Amino acid sequence: MNTHFDASDNNDSYDYAAWVTCYVGLGSNLTNELGSPVEHLQQAVAAMQEQEYIRAVRVSSYYASAPMGPQDQPDFINAVAGFETTFTAFKLLDFCQALEQQAKRARLRHWGERSLDVDILLYGDAQISETQLTVPHAGLHERNFVLIPLRELAPELIIKGKPITDYPLSHDWKGLKLLSND
Ligand code: AMP
Repeated sequence: MNTHFDASDNNDSYDYAAWVTCYVGLGSNLTNELGSPVEHLQQAVAAMQEQEYIRAVRVSSYYASAPMGPQDQPDFINAVAGFETTFTAFKLLDFCQALEQQAKRARLRHWGERSLDVDILLYGDAQISETQLTVPHAGLHERNFVLIPLRELAPELIIKGKPITDYPLSHDWKGLKLLSND
């Protein structure tokens, strides 16, 4: 898939010269003319694999999760992708938002249905607190649909000085179902 993404101007105050290991959370619960939730996630992963500033893409299993917000909406399909990137953190955020736009993300209501949500979970061991970007992601430790696939990809991960397995929701399957190993 051609992302039509302009990777120029890839520098900011969180500039890293080397490849940085990152994790992003993917979620979708809306079928539109571009595909089903699973297809939205697959298309986002394909775009990552084609991006020259990203390499070594790995993807967790896909999971179905009960919605966090309004309950009168379909379950979400969630996964986590891990990769190395030479994108700066803010350029990676632009890339994630371009992926959302490409899936024609429709924001109907807060915490409501969406064709694609792409959040930066971790950017190396960077700690970023800016209006536009918080890393590690602010909701990371509160979401089993993030922690369980993240743990699947990186069981030895240390988040904010604590092993991922020490976060209770990294082994709490409430509302979560394993879909497949795609
Ligand atoms: P959401 O509705 O969850 O997709 O939130 C989108 C907004 O969150 C965007 O305006 C981003 O600038 C902001 N944001 C802050 N931290 C992050 C992050 N770690 N990953 C993605 N978006 C983020």
